[in-house]
Amino acid sequence: MNRHSGIGALPYGIFSTPDEPHRRAGVALGDQIIDLPAAVRRLDPSLAAAVTGPTLDALLAAGPAVWSSLRASLITWVTDEAHRDLLPTVPAADAVMHLPFTVADYVDFYASEQHATNLGRILRPGQEPLTANWKHLPIGYHGRAGTVVVSGTDIVRPSGLRPGAEFGASQRLDIEAELGFVVGAPSTLGTPVPLADFDQHVFGVCLVNDWSARDIQAFEYVPLGPFLGKSFATSVSPWIVPLAALEHARVPPPVRDVPLSAYLDDEKTPSWGLDVRLEIRLNGQVISTPTFEGMYWTPAQMLAHMTVNGAALRTGDLYASGTISGGSPGSLIELSWNGQEPLHLADGSARAFLHDGDEVVISAVAPGENGTLISLGEVSGRILGAR
Ligand code: CA
Repeated sequence: MNRHSGIGALPYGIFSTPDEPHRRAGVALGDQIIDLPAAVRRLDPSLAAAVTGPTLDALLAAGPAVWSSLRASLITWVTDEAHRDLLPTVPAADAVMHLPFTVADYVDFYASEQHATNLGRILRPGQEPLTANWKHLPIGYHGRAGTVVVSGTDIVRPSGLRPGAEFGASQRLDIEAELGFVVGAPSTLGTPVPLADFDQHVFGVCLVNDWSARDIQAFEYVPLGPFLGKSFATSVSPWIVPLAALEHARVPPPVRDVPLSAYLDDEKTPSWGLDVRLEIRLNGQVISTPTFEGMYWTPAQMLAHMTVNGAALRTGDLYASGTISGGSPGSLIELSWNGQEPLHLADGSARAFLHDGDEVVISAVAPGENGTLISLGEVSGRILGAR
């Protein structure tokens, strides 16, 4: 399960073990987890307050100065042999991972031009695929924070009203492969967060599977947007990769063909395009390998847009990129072209949308130091029959 290699990523999560069932912060290191509170007690008690508790909430709230000093200490501890021998660790195989932070608000964007274009073609054939606003602002909506669940949580097939006002279990249950951005430091109500302050507020990145019931969504979404077709569950990976670990993955965003309003114009600010390569497996078989590079809107622009009206950030806010469909699609509705071209799996079965019992695993890697790859871990979930 734990595919973080080397020392580049040093992601943070919350774990427990059968011997010590209390939840506590850990750092993934190969096939081991560093017990963070125990390590800090032994090696640098001044950091104790930031790593205490059953979630990462205190660390998120501590802000960028603490984030960098903790990461600098961790890099010293894992690279220097004398320190490394003192690190209290547990085998990752013995650990249970938990939701790593208290999700405050959850926002879902729609930032991939390829995804928005594909969905436009599928849902509004014969019309311009992108809506008139699409290249002027990163489109998003508020989702349901309370149903964000950790990787490995089973997903019960949702029921609801489908087209024709017919009530029943969703027949068009889908995935959305996305990156999630975890806000640490809050902002002040009434004060927008500019593009340049992205890394002063965002702590790190996780993987997101934004499960979607396409039939429920299709019947309910006009005119106010997604609601029950999305809110039943959103899965996140258990390990939060700090932004600092993605320094070597930063790439320029694509050329924008529509001039941007000043608050979104990132031509003169540091680039926050990210070279993150995803892999989507359905029942063990790779069905798509989308890439985040080339995403039209960057996470810095999404944050600037979320706050331009003065909305305040809270510690634990999570915002997701929207389905990543660069290179290859990040959803089944695209892969099967709305069910018209089902996928053929190695076991001889076909899939337009998810069947009960199906397991979806999304993993990702990104460039690290000196040509290495760092892992962003994975987010998994299995579909249970409707209740
Ligand atoms: Ca989504």
